[in-house]
Amino acid sequence: MNKIVAIANQKGGVGKTTTSVNLAACLADLGCRVLLLDMDPQGNATSGLGIDRSLIVRATYDLLMGDARVEELVVATNIPNLSIIPSTTDLAGAEIELVSHATREYRLRDEFRQTEAEFDFILIDCPPSLGLLTLNALAAADTVLVPIQAEYYALEGVGMLSQSVELVQEYLNPRLTWEGVLLTMYDGRTNLAEQVADEVHRHFGDLVYRTKIPRNVRLSEAPSYGEPIIRYASASRGAKTYRRLADEFLARNNFTPSVE
Ligand code: ADP
Ligand code: MG
Repeated sequence: MNKIVAIANQKGGVGKTTTSVNLAACLADLGCRVLLLDMDPQGNATSGLGIDRSLIVRATYDLLMGDARVEELVVATNIPNLSIIPSTTDLAGAEIELVSHATREYRLRDEFRQTEAEFDFILIDCPPSLGLLTLNALAAADTVLVPIQAEYYALEGVGMLSQSVELVQEYLNPRLTWEGVLLTMYDGRTNLAEQVADEVHRHFGDLVYRTKIPRNVRLSEAPSYGEPIIRYASASRGAKTYRRLADEFLARNNFTPSVE
């Protein structure tokens, strides 16, 4: 069905990449065919899945430039059912190179419209900005999932993101809807985390996922081993919660994976 979900928030360090990698791995583990598209020049999702970036020849950059098709770029990972289109550092230059293209916001959308590759879900790990890379992701996406770190300044910038989503809906992609809002690095022992959660609920209502991602050191260790949390520390709280998130995601999407 190739449902495209952009994981976006212009703030850095809120858990976009951690959520992209681990939600993708958990969905794949449940039997979904998943593609993770690394849209961040930093490539943390790529290396977080154990792919050596120095060995990559073609990547998201080539997709945006129209030099390669989706099917030519998809790379298998160590997780069955999970593929990735990796990112390389030249992606950082893509925003500038794209400026002169007439269809600069639609490069990604057009490539996915043409592809014959079949996935259940395509997750896009966006960079921490609202530049052309994120706009390409939002123009191609069916929905946007926004991780929000449960800290004092959490809602700062979220208004701007909501506004950007509205602008994208108006000018680039009327199909775009919200997948949801996800509280990350949540520490339920603190009043602050609870207050932030209340405020996020007031702002977003039912869009907020019931699953809250706790702060868990295993989640921050896993990328340096090139493994998603369900491989690196399968019994950790982080692994359990991302599994629960995948269940909630599938329930909200009314989707049952065809078990192989
Ligand atoms: P973003 O992609 O939004 O910049 P990341 O997913 O890279 O954010 O997370 C920022 C940092 O916080 C990383 O070092 C990551 O390992 C760590 N991190 C993310 N989520 C958690 C969590 N739930 N518990 C502990 N550390 C986390
Ligand atoms: Mg990131």
